[in-house]
Amino acid sequence: MAANQERTFIAIKPDGVQRGLIGDIIKRFEQKGFRLVAMKFVQASEELLKQHYIDLKDRPFYAGLVKYMGSGPVVPMVWEGLNVVKTGRVMLGETNPADSKPGTIRGDYCIQVGRNIIHGSDSVESAKKEIALWFKDEELSDYKSSAYEWVYEN
Ligand code: UDP
Ligand code: MG
Repeated sequence: MAANQERTFIAIKPDGVQRGLIGDIIKRFEQKGFRLVAMKFVQASEELLKQHYIDLKDRPFYAGLVKYMGSGPVVPMVWEGLNVVKTGRVMLGETNPADSKPGTIRGDYCIQVGRNIIHGSDSVESAKKEIALWFKDEELSDYKSSAYEWVYEN
C-alpha cells in the first residue's frame, strides 16, 4: 500500500458526542488534509467494545471503560493519509488530557483520562484490526479527493 494511503481508525466517544464536539473534531482531520474514508453514528454493542479494547482486559479500568464507551452513540471513522496513524495520535494528544498540550484535541476539550472524548489507533497494525472490527469492506469508500494534488507533492 502506498504511504499516502495509510489508514487509521478514529472514534469520537460518547462524551465527545454528548458535548457537541463531533463537528470540531472532524474539522481538524479535514483541515489537516486527511481523506475521510468511512464514518458512521452508532450505539456500539458490549461485545464489539470488549473486543475493541481486548488488549486492556486485565486492567482495572477495563469494565468501566467498556461501560463508558457503551453509554451512548459513538462516531467511528477511518481517515487516510501519509503517516496518519502517528500524526493522528499527535493530534489527539496524550491518553491523559492533563498531559496533553493545548492545540491537541484532548488538550483543548477534556480534563480526565476516563472522559477523554476520542480514540485513535496506536499503530498501523492495530488500525487494520480496528478498521476490520468496526467496518465492512464495502463501507470503505474509494473516491479520490479533489484536493490530493494540493496536499501532496508526489
Ligand atoms: N483509560 C482509563 N484509565 C486509565 C487509562 C486509560 O480510563 O488509567 C481509558 C481511556 O479512555 C483511554 C482508554 O482507556 O483512552 C484506552 O487506553 P489506552 O492506554 O489504549 O489509551 P489511548 O490509546 O486511548 O490513548
Ligand atoms: Mg489505545
